Amino acid sequence: MKMIKDIPDGLDFIMLANRYLNLGWRSAFSILEDGDIANETEDAETIMGYWSAAEPELATALALVQQAAEFYLKARIASVSPWLLVRTEPKDFPKPKLGEAASFSEFRTLDAQDLIRVSNAVFDEILSEEFTREFDAKRAQRNAGTHSVGGKPTTALEIIRYALIISEPFIGERKWAQSRRDHLTRDRLYQTSFEWQVFTMAKEFERLTRDLTAGELKRFYGFEKKQRVYRCLNCHYETRDAAEDGWLTAQLIPNAPDSTNIHCYACGEDSEVIRKSCRQAPECKGNVISKEHQVCLTCLEDWVPEEDENSS
Ligand SMILES: [Zn+2]
Ligand SMILES: [Zn+2]
Repeated sequence: MKMIKDIPDGLDFIMLANRYLNLGWRSAFSILEDGDIANETEDAETIMGYWSAAEPELATALALVQQAAEFYLKARIASVSPWLLVRTEPKDFPKPKLGEAASFSEFRTLDAQDLIRVSNAVFDEILSEEFTREFDAKRAQRNAGTHSVGGKPTTALEIIRYALIISEPFIGERKWAQSRRDHLTRDRLYQTSFEWQVFTMAKEFERLTRDLTAGELKRFYGFEKKQRVYRCLNCHYETRDAAEDGWLTAQLIPNAPDSTNIHCYACGEDSEVIRKSCRQAPECKGNVISKEHQVCLTCLEDWVPEEDENSS
């Protein structure tokens, strides 16, 4: 009896999706970041030169994220049954080989354009209109092998936004930061430096607090753009050789005058704070002090209690 070998399951596709998504994200983010260097020259020719040279990499970053979206959909479908991914017309079946089992990969599988319809038909969670609209638009762009449609270029930031939108139904609401942190621990650079993961998370998140809208930050991270931001000491102590000013990545949760908990959106840590005025730096108006380290989270100066104060 012949069997079919190498039948994938949902987890195989999830792994692939995460890998492609993070590669696309990394590429888009470095294009965005390096773009600052070009923009800082304030020289029109340099800036134009940079963005036109970045076009092929933008198209590739978009293709990686789009591929990730397709793998996420395949994962969802395969979690019901991998055979739903196969086009069932007998003429599409692989040619038989004597005594040899066919491999799943020899079967023709669904076209990308059918993945959403099949997923919605077999899975109890229907994908949103936003997801479908974005997926179809980016798929068309990817197929055209370009980063622009009708002369309107896709920016690095749009690719980052797209990555956030398409991963949300699969990794969960506000789970991107956690997912990115986990992924970075499997990155080749993590093998040489643990600090690199903390540095990357802090750098990416701090940058996105400027570039994403208040609505996007709230939706994908839970971050409140209008609320005051503090420095995270966990991130700072791991990376201070590379970034001596620290990172503005933490906010009080709950946001109240007597709140004693601070949460960092980059490293994911919560820590206890005391609410006393910082007096070390004359111009600092901070009143959020790390309880463990006795450091002001606004200016990073050491905090010394006055005689009548204690740190509780
Ligand atoms: Zn942190
Ligand atoms: Zn201070």
